[in-house]
Amino acid sequence: MSERTSEEGRSATCGCKVGRIAHQHGLSKLDDELVRYWTDRTDERYSTRELAEHVNQQVLAAALDDAGLQYKDGEVENTYRLLTDDDVSSGTRVQTRKELEREGVPVEDVESDFVSHQSVYNHLTDCLEAELETPSDEERLERSRDKLGALRNRTAAVTEDTIAQLARSDVLDVGEFNVVVNVTITCEECKTQYTSRDLLEQGGCDCRTE
Ligand SMILES: [Zn+2]
Ligand SMILES: [Zn+2]
Repeated sequence: MSERTSEEGRSATCGCKVGRIAHQHGLSKLDDELVRYWTDRTDERYSTRELAEHVNQQVLAAALDDAGLQYKDGEVENTYRLLTDDDVSSGTRVQTRKELEREGVPVEDVESDFVSHQSVYNHLTDCLEAELETPSDEERLERSRDKLGALRNRTAAVTEDTIAQLARSDVLDVGEFNVVVNVTITCEECKTQYTSRDLLEQGGCDCRTE
């Protein structure tokens, strides 16, 4: 077999574990995906842990393909979970590995090809020279505002649901109701109270900004 040329992707030439397994399993789009998912500037951004999971699921899928197995949507993810998740009982894990072996999947080899989030991080930063841009202060404030807003909405929704359920089953006696979630932050130095929205908006407590 001839050596791949560099145009076909750096994974063919970088010697790290991620590059090696990408090459070995023919995952030609992997490097692009890793960089794209990692540097995504939205909340959809993947952590290196999630990226490692993504890589490993592709390794598993490639092994299932090699063994000529058909799999449905979500099946690779589920099999990966059964092989790796701490919450899966050892009995279930043994069973899963046995079934795969019976189907001709070299489970041990596949597992030894699984990469850690540290390997992914090193591959991204050393081999692919990807950089994570640090978000600006405004971006961080905006993201945090969104995050807290979503959390408030969720708290309100769960509260409303819970109250409504109790009311429906006559455990709780209440008329039509409305839920408001208020989160208060108190600056312990001056005892001023803020809603999270106001505090983020004004960029700090009055006692500090004067
Ligand atoms: Zn690499
Ligand atoms: Zn203060």
